[in-house]
Amino acid sequence: MIPVTKPFLPPMEEYEHYLPGIWQRDWLTNMGPLANDLELRLKKYLKVKHLLYVSSGTIALQMAIKSLELKGEIITTPFSFVATTSSIVWEGCTPVFVDIDPQSLNMDTAKIENAITERTSAILATHVYGNPCEVETIQKIADAHHLKVIYDAAHAFGVELEGRPVFEAGDISICSLHATKLYHSIEGGLLITKDPDLLKKLAFMRNFGFNGSEAFAELGINGKNSEFHAAMGLVNLKYLPAIHEKRKSLTQRYDEILSHAKAFIPKWHPDATKNYAYYPVVFDSEELALSCFTALQKKEIFARRYFYPSLAKVLPYLKHQEMAVTEDIARRVLCLPLYHELSFEEVDMIGRIILRTQNN
Ligand SMILES: *Cc1c(COP(=O)(O)O)cnc(C)c1O
Repeated sequence: MIPVTKPFLPPMEEYEHYLPGIWQRDWLTNMGPLANDLELRLKKYLKVKHLLYVSSGTIALQMAIKSLELKGEIITTPFSFVATTSSIVWEGCTPVFVDIDPQSLNMDTAKIENAITERTSAILATHVYGNPCEVETIQKIADAHHLKVIYDAAHAFGVELEGRPVFEAGDISICSLHATKLYHSIEGGLLITKDPDLLKKLAFMRNFGFNGSEAFAELGINGKNSEFHAAMGLVNLKYLPAIHEKRKSLTQRYDEILSHAKAFIPKWHPDATKNYAYYPVVFDSEELALSCFTALQKKEIFARRYFYPSLAKVLPYLKHQEMAVTEDIARRVLCLPLYHELSFEEVDMIGRIILRTQNN
């Protein structure tokens, strides 16, 4: 069986190495030394000024929206994971969808201004598959209309744009460190902001708003993560270069084999580095995408229709909307298996099955 993704697990002894310390200190959660250490190391690794380690990407999104005191409408993309949209609704705001660009699959910046009303408070865009949005254009539009900008950078761990970490774009960026992501701490999330005051507010929010043991600075929630999660993050950090290299070569192998496939690979931002988080393929037709999906499945290989269906059409708590480009892409896209343990032979096999299917 070949799944679409497989969580990276380091040698068990390396994880166990952290356990005696946790037992000795009797400090299991609440910003313990391992969580602190992870924050410091991630800051250095990602070259960002400020960063908070939280319990999930979703709580990071919700805290981002709450901390910026957003109201009314938030402009967002329908081509993302459900948490991007659900966090907006969860925080009592209304998502307003803007269709995507058919090449990059990120929010089409040419369509943003049309969606702005007097109720708009922010833009929440996703760097889909880790591919950076047009962040300069988005910032210009936001500045012109006094809007805040949040990036769902759940896929963009480690990506640099024009030599700077993409995590520093916007007012706040969030990342997910969930087990299925490129780099993980089992469950976990990151909040990144350049604004030290906002960082302080988010840090209070993460811990119920506590300012000392008997006073409160903010409305807060429980966004803390545990020492056990942080330990996994610390061990996995060491493997990032190896993970990166392996995924890079697997991606190149896919690119070679699929160069004659009746499909295209989404266009990466020309000024950005790649993190090889996913291998998305947009087939020429939905029929071909589904035939390939089924042919792979027959061999116990599981591609994923990520992201299908469009968030503008599937959520029971929102009025359904027609987003032509998103709808079209969502029907034709498959993410092919990509994970550290995947072998080149398996990639070759997947490639052959796709080519055979399209030539049938
Ligand atoms: C995974 C993911 C999230 C949610 O992150 P969790 O850590 O699972 O809460 C949000 N947005 C996108 C785009 C994701 O892929």
